[in-house]
Amino acid sequence: MDEEALEPLKAVADLTVLGADPDAPKIPSEDQLLAAVADADVALTAPGHPFTARVVAGAPKLKLIATMGTGYDNIDLEAARRHGIEVTNAPGVLDDTTADLAFALMLATSRGLVRSERRLRDGGFTGWTPTSFLGTDVHGKTLGIVGLGRIGQAVAKRARGFDMKLLYTGRAPKPDVAAALGAEFVSMDALLERSDFVSLHVPLTKETRHLIDAKSLAKMKREAILINTARGPVVDEGALGEALTRGELGGAGIDVYEREPTIHPALLAAPRTVLLPHIGSATAATRRRMVAKAVENILAFLEGRPVANSVL
Ligand code: NAP
Repeated sequence: MDEEALEPLKAVADLTVLGADPDAPKIPSEDQLLAAVADADVALTAPGHPFTARVVAGAPKLKLIATMGTGYDNIDLEAARRHGIEVTNAPGVLDDTTADLAFALMLATSRGLVRSERRLRDGGFTGWTPTSFLGTDVHGKTLGIVGLGRIGQAVAKRARGFDMKLLYTGRAPKPDVAAALGAEFVSMDALLERSDFVSLHVPLTKETRHLIDAKSLAKMKREAILINTARGPVVDEGALGEALTRGELGGAGIDVYEREPTIHPALLAAPRTVLLPHIGSATAATRRRMVAKAVENILAFLEGRPVANSVL
């Protein structure tokens, strides 16, 4: 983690940094995590770290799990609650960075950027022709946003600059926010049926797991493009790979996977996809802000001040 952002913790805590070698960034296994937090009062963690019931139970002194991520689906909240452990996240500091990436995926997928670049490097650029490297437009198309939260709204703002028509769905309409963005609330089915791009911005919960499965993919337009910068398990990755291979979907731009870092072979083999290694928030400035936010939460907790980002 960003050294400078961790600095304020050094004054108040004995700090042990796990996996500090930047050349070997790895998600700790359950056992590694267990060993690291067995004696800790506070854990500063990150998306993907398996804070399972077993890890939580194996850390009797633990009072706070503070993640530098917005998503906290890697933490067993029930287990934390049972053991009286506070959990905080770090929302709001990565919205624009993640929305930029969602938009980059929309453009890269629809215009075949990665495919075209690879062809050029392989000697496949033999001059301008009217029919080569053809993609589809982004501007003027209909974008369906699933989850008009912080990141969903940041994506909507960008889409307005591309003259896109905006649809959104979620648990309930958000009339004020939507009016400012010019977005129309529709059912999930209507969004899937009407959108040229569907971009996912819901957290991973019991309700959103496989929200996009074979059935929902079948409701999308044949030329539509699915963008997932939310969490991998929100999409049935095998079903997505198969739909793309059968030509039932226009493309997919994916940043997150069901079993990271493993990617379903059907998705890896699928055409018209751009696959990124979970880099939604990956700019140096944003990663620093995320750590700083988690550190702020830890300091507030240790000093007995109100904790801003409690998720329990
Ligand atoms: P947020 O502000 O909480 O927005 C989430 C949205 O999803 C809200 O509009 C929420 O509706 C909606 N939602 C929640 N449960 C739903 C359900 N069952 N059905 C339909 N809609 C539902 O969160 P955010 O900050 O935008 O972040 C969204 C997610 O993006 C995070 O949870 C994280 O997993 C992911 N993320 C990924 C990356 C990356 O690196 N790729 C980076 C940052 C975040 P309500 O308003 O009704 O609650």
